[in-house]
Order: sequence, then structure tokens, then C-alpha cells
Amino acid sequence: MNAYKIKICKRENGCRNAVYKESEIVDDIVSVFEGTNYTDFIKGEIKGSIKSHHQFKVTISCCPNSCPMPQIVDLGIVAASTVMVSNERCSNCKLCIATCLEHAIVVDEINGPDIMRDRCVYCAKCADKCPTGTITVKENGFRVMVGGKLGRHARLASELPGIFSKQEALKIVENSVEYFKEHYSRAKRFADLFSIYSENEIFKRIVPVNHKSSI
Ligand code: SF4
Ligand code: SF4
Ligand code: SF4
Repeated sequence: MNAYKIKICKRENGCRNAVYKESEIVDDIVSVFEGTNYTDFIKGEIKGSIKSHHQFKVTISCCPNSCPMPQIVDLGIVAASTVMVSNERCSNCKLCIATCLEHAIVVDEINGPDIMRDRCVYCAKCADKCPTGTITVKENGFRVMVGGKLGRHARLASELPGIFSKQEALKIVENSVEYFKEHYSRAKRFADLFSIYSENEIFKRIVPVNHKSSI
């Protein structure tokens, strides 16, 4: 058994909500774990065979509905598409308002649509529906949640601020694994690090240095 477990949501069955449609991210994450020799590291730290509770768990949700529950695993990756208002003329059809489950859009008959960023969950449904291209996708990426777990001392994952490119998300996986290895003598679960170190301290170590949040 590997010392890591990667799960992706069931969007391959044809889920219409998916905003991330490629498949290689699972293989890419496997490569990250292999590159850090994580399984060998854990084998050297434990007695006996690797059990489920030794596994570093990663889930990938291909839309903000978050079916495989990224909030309760070591690392949750959630596909996100940010949207923007383009220069294309709005027809006032209000399809975007009807589509947005978050009530994040208002449309003014003269000025067109306005998106309330604090309500938006980056599903891009409004851009899919907009017939004029007035609302359009700005950027495809991922939200990343870290440090969740269930069990005796459950903890909901903390979300890193911003939207990350795939390469950045992979770097966060790598940095998180290395950070965990470094502190394994003090914490046997990644989530436990959050009761030893501040969130800011952990974020500084795992977020790629040059990341600039686009939201
Ligand atoms: S997370 Fe989204 S894309 Fe994935 S199965 Fe659930 S609803 Fe579909
Ligand atoms: S932004 Fe697009 S969907 Fe919304 S009212 Fe204008 S044309 Fe219709
Ligand atoms: S991306 Fe989704 S949540 Fe955000 S405004 Fe559009 S429909 Fe609403």
C-alpha cells in the first residue's frame, strides 16, 4: 500500500458541473508523491505495514460542489473558474441571474451585469449561459484546502487564499508533504500541525513564493 491516497470526484461519469475536465492531475499528484519518496519515508517511521490512517489523503473536486469532501482530508483541491464582465453588450436577458445559485449577480438595464465577488464560488455557470459573452471566464484554476480530518479530534480544512494554477497546486502538494515530513516527529497527521503552528506560518511554507492571488 502506498502512503498516499488520491481521490477524484465522479465527474468522468459525465457530470455537467465539472469546470476541470482534464484527467492528468491525478497522475501529476502521484508523481509529486513519488518525487518526495513519501511512501519510503513513512515505511521508515512506522512499525509494520502502512494502514489507512498513515496515508496522506488528497481529494480533487472538479467543481465547487465538492462531492469528495475536500474539507475533511489532508489536502483538498477544488476546481474553480473565475468570471469577469467583458465589453460585449448585455442583452438584459437575465439568464445569468436565474443561473447563479449564489445570488451573486445583479443586472442593471443600462450598465449591464455586476458580480458580487464575496458571494461567487467560481462555478462559471453564468458564463456558460450568457448568450452574448458579456460574462465570460477569466481564469481556470483551483482552490486549495489544507489540514482537514475526521476522527477523534476532527478539524475542517483551512482554505489557502486565492486561486492557484495547476502547477501552483502541485507545488502546494509537494511543499505540504515536505513540511509534514520535516515535522513528523511532532505530528502524525498533517492536520495536527495546525494545533502546533499558526495557520500563517504553515501557509507561508506551503504557498508557492511567487503566487499572486487573482481574487
Ligand atoms: S464535484 Fe462537481 S464535477 Fe465533481 S462529481 Fe461533484 S458535482 Fe460533479
Ligand atoms: S450578462 Fe449575459 S446572461 Fe446576464 S443579462 Fe446580460 S446577456 Fe443576459
Ligand atoms: S461563477 Fe457561479 S457563483 Fe460566481 S457569479 Fe457566476 S454563477 Fe454565480
